[in-house]
Amino acid sequence: MANVADTKLYDILGVPPGASDNELKKAYRKLAKEYHPDKNPNAGDKFKEISFAYEVLSNPEKRELYDRYGEQGLREGSGGSGGMDDIFSHIFGGGLFSFMGNQSRSRNGRRRGEDMMHPLKVSLEDLYNGKTTKLQLSKNVLCSSCNGQGGKSGAVQKCSACRGRGVRIMIRQLAPGMVQQMQSVCSDCNGEGEVINEKDRCKKCEGKKVIKEVKILEVHVDKGMKHGQRITFTGEADQAPGVEPGDIVLLLQEKENEVFQREGNDLHMTHKIGLVEALCGFQFTFKHLDGRQIVVKYPPGKVIEPGCVRVVRGEGMPQYRNPFEKGDLYIKFDVQFPENNWISPEKLSELEDLLPSRPEVPTVIGDTEEVDLQEFDNTRGSGGGQRREAYNDSSDEESTHHGPGVQCAHQ
Ligand SMILES: [Zn+2]
Ligand SMILES: [Zn+2]
Repeated sequence: MANVADTKLYDILGVPPGASDNELKKAYRKLAKEYHPDKNPNAGDKFKEISFAYEVLSNPEKRELYDRYGEQGLREGSGGSGGMDDIFSHIFGGGLFSFMGNQSRSRNGRRRGEDMMHPLKVSLEDLYNGKTTKLQLSKNVLCSSCNGQGGKSGAVQKCSACRGRGVRIMIRQLAPGMVQQMQSVCSDCNGEGEVINEKDRCKKCEGKKVIKEVKILEVHVDKGMKHGQRITFTGEADQAPGVEPGDIVLLLQEKENEVFQREGNDLHMTHKIGLVEALCGFQFTFKHLDGRQIVVKYPPGKVIEPGCVRVVRGEGMPQYRNPFEKGDLYIKFDVQFPENNWISPEKLSELEDLLPSRPEVPTVIGDTEEVDLQEFDNTRGSGGGQRREAYNDSSDEESTHHGPGVQCAHQ
């Protein structure tokens, strides 16, 4: 067993290493909302970090690699997929791999450009039905006028300041006998290693070798794709001379749905019913993500306890790459009780005759004291009449337990 105790990815999401999938998801959703580039344009790196951490930790295989072998496990386990290095060095600060620098090398030894990551917001409907969408973006392409040379042939000369290397080595003395070697980008040629004579410069790109071009990508969001999943366009990132372009990577961001919450391939929803429906059966309809009207029937004689969950098999999300297989739909029932004094005392005693009988009151021996049971409002500051809401607030998706116990608070 390796004894790597690398918790950086957990730290990014602010959860302990033993965190459950649910805790991870919750932490991720909260942070992603906070640092989303739409809301927080200056926090782009932070958002990438969060997405990356979640992508790893929400994948059981990657998480295991990471838990056992830390950063290195991920690097080796990733099968050398291109472009991972950027986010790696960003998060892990280079570390063991800092000598690799910011850019990885491709198979044929050419330098490889950086990947471009874009979040892509998709609705749950899109993930259920699949969708093809067009995405417009602007990227650098090699200048066609000078073939990415920057000027006429011969116009380009090796930078004399750095002898064409693009970097200059500086030696810094830390202490007597201890020196640190540092590399810095050559300021004469901006790291290009070459300079272009002013008058021979290409007019079209002004010697920059690349020009901006608008590119339209056709994006296929497949049925069953998940939040955090990537869609990669290989080699579509910025072009630069002598560099193999990186990939454009779209990171799917699932938008919240008003009716359904997704958990893997399963869907969850809450449905309100009255007491009469809870006791005497019911029927209701809802619109599914593909527009179908679904009728749910529950026969008289079967009882729905407040807060209980029933399942409809096969009505969850389609499986990615196997869309005819679907997850399940879980419906949680919120039973609405009637208001105080909703029925006359006479009717109430009739009702009591119909209901299951009370337990026998045990005979009490010795002194007794009678106490008053009062209404209790656990919503801060607000007055009475809020009890039902207080109950609803505390019964959202995070309380996985259910059953009649929670009812005691307000009945
Ligand atoms: Zn040009
Ligand atoms: Zn130079």
